[in-house]
Amino acid sequence: MTTNGFHNHNSSPSFDDFLENDFSFSTTAIHFNQEPEQWLSNAVVPPICLASTYKQEAIADKRGFEYGKLGLYGRLGNPTRQCLEKVLAALEQAKYGFAFASGMAAVLSVVHILKAGDHVIVMDDIYSGTIVYFKKVASKFGLSIEFIDGTNLDNIQHAIKENTKMIWLETPSNPTLKLIDIKGVSKIAKNLPDCITVVDNTFLSPYFQRPLTLGADIVIHSCTKYLNGHSDVIMGAACTNNEKLAETLRFLQGSIGAIPSPFDCYLVLRSLKTLEVRMKKHMENGLKIAKFLETHPYVEKVLHPGLPSHPQHELAKKQCYGHSGMVSFYIKGHNLKTSKKFFKHLNIFALAFSLGGFESLAEFPSVMTHGSLSEEVRERLGITDGLIRLSCGLEDPSDLISDLDQALREAFKL
Ligand SMILES: *Cc1c(COP(=O)(O)O)cnc(C)c1O
Repeated sequence: MTTNGFHNHNSSPSFDDFLENDFSFSTTAIHFNQEPEQWLSNAVVPPICLASTYKQEAIADKRGFEYGKLGLYGRLGNPTRQCLEKVLAALEQAKYGFAFASGMAAVLSVVHILKAGDHVIVMDDIYSGTIVYFKKVASKFGLSIEFIDGTNLDNIQHAIKENTKMIWLETPSNPTLKLIDIKGVSKIAKNLPDCITVVDNTFLSPYFQRPLTLGADIVIHSCTKYLNGHSDVIMGAACTNNEKLAETLRFLQGSIGAIPSPFDCYLVLRSLKTLEVRMKKHMENGLKIAKFLETHPYVEKVLHPGLPSHPQHELAKKQCYGHSGMVSFYIKGHNLKTSKKFFKHLNIFALAFSLGGFESLAEFPSVMTHGSLSEEVRERLGITDGLIRLSCGLEDPSDLISDLDQALREAFKL
């Protein structure tokens, strides 16, 4: 038979000799040597599985609904993603882990546990994207949201209402590195009916802080930051030990569908292998830089929970195993012009959003990450025109210190 007058491949005599199976051309391309059951191998790196669906054993095969099993459909489960989710959970000392398309996708999926009419207490000094999400998106769906300073547990206790169902923490906070007592807050929540504590652990990673062991119900991450650490993936995660919450999160992950790509899951899985060595070096570099800045004539104050000068240094030692490469400091004078000159003269630190990568970044919260807050809120939070936030990377610390020193001196040159 011919199609549109062309000679048919399948009927050509030479083609039969060439094919090693009884299928015709397109069926060969689709099925030959690609049986779904054959992918067992001893590869030392988990394979990237891109399949969007899976062959079922029978109709009404329920495999995909059971944690630890796969099946059904790629949005609901993927082998590469599940491999990553199990490692993320294990590092957070959690039973269940879920990966999302971004940190914000993790935030929104977790907030979807709530329903209209619920009251949420949110710390006032958190990632600005999360603030914007709560204020401009979540509030539209009937949640009542209250921002408070959670460094004092009494403030949280006073904010509790009959319908308080979630307390949202980020500790250390962003950008002023204030600490919230996770154990204390979790205790308050546990005394309320169905109220859960969620902790955004992005700034420390599970290497330096494990909120679930302190009583929190859910820990979330922007994996974009330290967990991936190579500035080439946007991803989020949520982990829990609570089976009922895990069931809800699994349902929301599949139902909302804000899932990461298998390729990105592979990248983060790879990055986690060096998380410990990276975090140790981030801490070493950050502390060296913080100590240097503390003695600098043009620096007014340094914010780093590992320094005895930090007002919550004792809590940091109790609650965390260490601190990351995040350091904030105030340039003397709190002057926009001086800060601008400082950034202009940085050579190694790049002026950029984000944090937690191998490369050192500097950021100006009052204009960049927290520019959307009102002047009054910024002032209350201590976000002045002299506040600089550093994400200290993995370069040689003496080069980083020289870079900061010369940029500070240039900033004060007349
Ligand atoms: C970056 C960040 C987020 C948002 O994560 P994305 O991956 O950018 O969506 C949430 N929380 C904190 C603390 C962050 O730093």
